[in-house]
Amino acid sequence: MALLVIKKYPDDILRENGEDVLTFDKALDRLVTDMIETMYVAEGVGLAAQQVGIARRVLVLDVSPEGNAPQEFINPRIVDSDGKVPSEEGCLSIPDFRETISRKERVIVEAQNRRGEFFTTEADGILSICLQHEIDHLNGVLFIDHMSRLKRDLFRRWFKRHGPFEGSEDA
Ligand code: ZN
Repeated sequence: MALLVIKKYPDDILRENGEDVLTFDKALDRLVTDMIETMYVAEGVGLAAQQVGIARRVLVLDVSPEGNAPQEFINPRIVDSDGKVPSEEGCLSIPDFRETISRKERVIVEAQNRRGEFFTTEADGILSICLQHEIDHLNGVLFIDHMSRLKRDLFRRWFKRHGPFEGSEDA
C-alpha cells in the first residue's frame, strides 16, 4: 500500500473530466486500495481519483460510523434521483472551508467494483450526499460550484486570505 498525495484547489486536475475505466487489472486494484488508505489517513469520508491526480472514474467512500466499511465505485452513474436536501459540505481538496449547498435527497447509482462486476446502490442520507459529492469530482465539479454567486464571492475572498493550501502547486 502507498499513501497518495491529495491535490488541493485550484489544481487543474480537479477540473478534468474522468475517463471511463475499461481495464480491471492489478493497477486498478492497487489504485483503489491506495485511495481507501489515503482517505482514512486524511480522515475523509470520500475520495475521488481526480483528488489524487488521476482523471479516471474511480471513487471510494466510507460513511460508516466506525470507519470500517469502505466502498468502491468504478464508472458510477446516477440513474435516478429525487428530493432536495440542504447539505453542509467540506472537501479534502479545499481544507477548512465548509458551506451548505443543496443536494438531491435520494440517488440510485449504477457502478462497477474493482473486478468489473456491476451493482446498483439506492442511497439516501449521508451516503447519497457523499456519492453526489464524489461523482461531481469525477466530472471536474467541486461543491463550491453549487454555491450561490454571493457565497462564491465570499469563498474567493476567504481563499485570498487562507490560500494557497499547503501542498498545492501554488504553495
Ligand atoms: Zn471533495
